[in-house]
Amino acid sequence: MLDTAEQRRQRLVEVFQDARTCSRCDLSRSRTQVVFGAGNADADLMFVGEAPGAEEDRQGLPFVGRSGALLSSMLEEVGLSRDGVFIANTLKCRPPANRDPTATETETCRPWLHDQIRLIEPIVVATLGNFATRLLSGDPTGITKVRGVPQVRTLGSRTVWLFPLFHPAAALRATGTADLLRQDLAALPALLERGLPAPTAAPAAARTGDGAHGAGTSPRGGGPT
Ligand code: SF4
Repeated sequence: MLDTAEQRRQRLVEVFQDARTCSRCDLSRSRTQVVFGAGNADADLMFVGEAPGAEEDRQGLPFVGRSGALLSSMLEEVGLSRDGVFIANTLKCRPPANRDPTATETETCRPWLHDQIRLIEPIVVATLGNFATRLLSGDPTGITKVRGVPQVRTLGSRTVWLFPLFHPAAALRATGTADLLRQDLAALPALLERGLPAPTAAPAAARTGDGAHGAGTSPRGGGPT
């Protein structure tokens, strides 16, 4: 067990350096660079999306571009700062032509995310969109039905509130979706105030094995701050 936030941050930087050269799956051959994740290494709140897109692959940072800008502005509306959170993806390398990740790729990459969660020690892991929500919750129910309702889930070695949200890209396409995303984000401060959920006998599907992106202050190539 690592005791201090600084020890955990240092270990996260080491994991970041290891991940940058990862070749555990075939995506290592098509990516420009690993998009590890970026943000506060001691964040109470983590956001997890699906996988890097073309611009993220180019910059090495998660949630850049219009989706990332919308998420940042919505966070500020509810009194949260992007600098205070950590943002990552389930998959650290871009699938070619933005195809869906395969089951083998997600399972091979999952330990990196679990290492991030173990070292950052978040209270809430907010999943962005259908893919990340289904993967981390272990439940195939669509995002429209589960959004905005916290679930207790054990991710790797840590039991957290998993909080499903619409993906910001979907919010860019529909005003109604943007309103619902804004509404759900407004519930986050109160959820964070509740602290960690008590570890429960979570259903098997909720234990997802053992095994993150673009704050303005992050170094180029992402990583913890
Ligand atoms: S997607 Fe994950 S497992 Fe595959 S090469 Fe990238 S970092 Fe490694």
